[in-house]
Amino acid sequence: MRSAPTSISIGISGDSGSGVSSTCSRTWKGLRGQLLDGYHQAGTTRMSDRPEDGVLNPQLAVHGFEDLFVASSSAFVTSGQANSTFMILVLALRLADHLDRGLRRDRG
Ligand SMILES: Cc1cc2nc3c(=O)[nH]c(=O)nc-3n(C[C@H](O)[C@H](O)[C@H](O)COP(=O)(O)OP(=O)(O)OC[C@H]3O[C@@H](n4cnc5c(N)ncnc54)[C@H](O)[C@@H]3O)c2cc1C
Repeated sequence: MRSAPTSISIGISGDSGSGVSSTCSRTWKGLRGQLLDGYHQAGTTRMSDRPEDGVLNPQLAVHGFEDLFVASSSAFVTSGQANSTFMILVLALRLADHLDRGLRRDRG
């Protein structure tokens, strides 16, 4: 696995060492600490309207399949810094409703 950089620098045209780089470096250190301790995996089968942009449709079915669903943080399109579980539960409940409606429709 590729390791995270220990610092980043942003080149700004005309900047002659005004401290921008050291500010970015401090910010990156803070972000990096959060990222490494967060462990909130997300987005590996992201939702999208179009198959070209993701794996799942907005009903959490795999694009191109009618009855293969994924309820997981992997459906997230973006991720906050922490506490993904509530949004996973929201998506799972929404999917349960969707499946329940489909079953009721099939049974007439
Ligand atoms: C240390 C740690 C602390 C955390 N603390 C918090 C917290 O305080 N609050 C919060 O909201 N979130 C927290 N999270 C994040 C939260 O745990 C995850 O976002 C959440 O569990 C993701 O749920 P999921 O169902 O998408 O994936 P997972 O919970 O990872 O479930 C995936 C499941 O699929 C199974 N699986 C994988 N591959 C296969 C396969 N090929 N065949 C069959 N089964 C397979 C795995 O065994 C696993 O059971 C924490 C995570 C970690 C690691």
